[in-house]
Amino acid sequence: MDYKELFKLCSYSEDLLIKDAPRIEKALEKAKLGPADIEIGMERLDKYFWMESAGVRKCWGIWLKQFVDIANCRDEHEKVVYYSFPLEAKMGGAINLAGHYAHSPEFVLLFLLGLMFGKVGPYFDLAEQNGMPPTSGMCGVNKMRLSSMISGIVDPYPDVVLVSSFFCDNEAKTDELIDYHFPGVPRIFVDNSLDANWDEYPNMYPEIGERRVSYLSSNFKHTIERLREDHGIILTDKHFKDAGRSMGSVFFDFQEVLECMKADPIPVPNNDMLLFYMLTTMSERRTMEEGPEAVKLLAQDARRRVEKGEGATKKGAARVAQAMPWYSDPEINQMVEEAGLAPVVSPFYWVHPKDLTKSKYSTYEDKAAETFMRMGLTHSTPGLIFRLKECVKFFELDGILWNAMYTCRPVGGHPIIIKKHMEEAGVPLLIVETDQMDSRDTPTEALRTRIETFAEMLKIRRMEKVSG
Ligand code: SF4
Repeated sequence: MDYKELFKLCSYSEDLLIKDAPRIEKALEKAKLGPADIEIGMERLDKYFWMESAGVRKCWGIWLKQFVDIANCRDEHEKVVYYSFPLEAKMGGAINLAGHYAHSPEFVLLFLLGLMFGKVGPYFDLAEQNGMPPTSGMCGVNKMRLSSMISGIVDPYPDVVLVSSFFCDNEAKTDELIDYHFPGVPRIFVDNSLDANWDEYPNMYPEIGERRVSYLSSNFKHTIERLREDHGIILTDKHFKDAGRSMGSVFFDFQEVLECMKADPIPVPNNDMLLFYMLTTMSERRTMEEGPEAVKLLAQDARRRVEKGEGATKKGAARVAQAMPWYSDPEINQMVEEAGLAPVVSPFYWVHPKDLTKSKYSTYEDKAAETFMRMGLTHSTPGLIFRLKECVKFFELDGILWNAMYTCRPVGGHPIIIKKHMEEAGVPLLIVETDQMDSRDTPTEALRTRIETFAEMLKIRRMEKVSG
């Protein structure tokens, strides 16, 4: 099948298809995607995604454009910067607005090769053959990062890499391995002090301890200085302000979609929410240019569904927060809904009203450090637990589906302690132990049985509450 059909379905115009044909063809060739894959992609979009939604089609278009940009970036930009996820929201945007290319290619490839084309498994195998055996406990994101370079989809020699070791230790370890395969690429490490007393976040929120703000802030300052002095990448206040405006518009407008998710049934399916969750955190050029419109369109589509009383799940399904949907396997996300749960929200993408408390800081670096850690998960496990409890209240949820991803400390947290705290607060929590990025070992049918049982229990609990 001709790739143009797929790209048109994902909001590419005829003009853009003609103009961008050489770029698109180069990207498809690098990823070894041929007509048979395009046909599979069309079938999977139809089967797993809400393609009637203009917002979803537009969002897929943005992911496709990011994929094409990644394959072409080395030829098109003098300076190429990769950052491991997550970078502070405005930093990537500012680098792009300064005329360079900055991105975090691994999520784009997980979505394209996983969700859309269903051929991500060989990339995980490739990473395992090249230094990340299963016993190393590296997550699928980092496996994709390594294999995207080894396979040649991504140029392994950017001008500089920004390593987000302020959130996740696996990132820096992966960069060490990438340096073994592709030596000599300069790296700037963005660190944070990850130690906090257990009660610090719940006692202080929305304030964040000054010691922690100043530590992370000084790392942001150091990054900006190194970019300028060692790499000639000059970032101005205007770049940060403009990036903040664009990304803020994507993130805050997305809260309207979350408002719609309070409805029963929920309007937006799990797989489609995933596309948007990650879009809101990708501070790169396509998201800044087209993300606000995609989010507005999704909000309109969601509102229309709510007004008609239609939805993605059965009315009355048990309503849960979910750590995150599965990143490369849409079948599991759909199964969660079929098994009787309504996945309302991933708490990491919800703006708590107190997040908007005016900051006492004035510089970009200080404000960014404070905003980042106010999100809870990015502060500490108690920060995560606090936010989960708040999220349950705000969205009136029945329970939590918690993916205690064994390869990931920040997202996995301390699962048993999280469960204990939530259950003490009267919120049932089901722990599932899978790699959300790499589902090769996920026993989907066994998981279905566990989720069905959990959903049934939540429903009975709710009926008991109603009948007093
Ligand atoms: S999934 Fe977890 S371990 Fe992997 S990159 Fe993200 S935060 Fe790090």
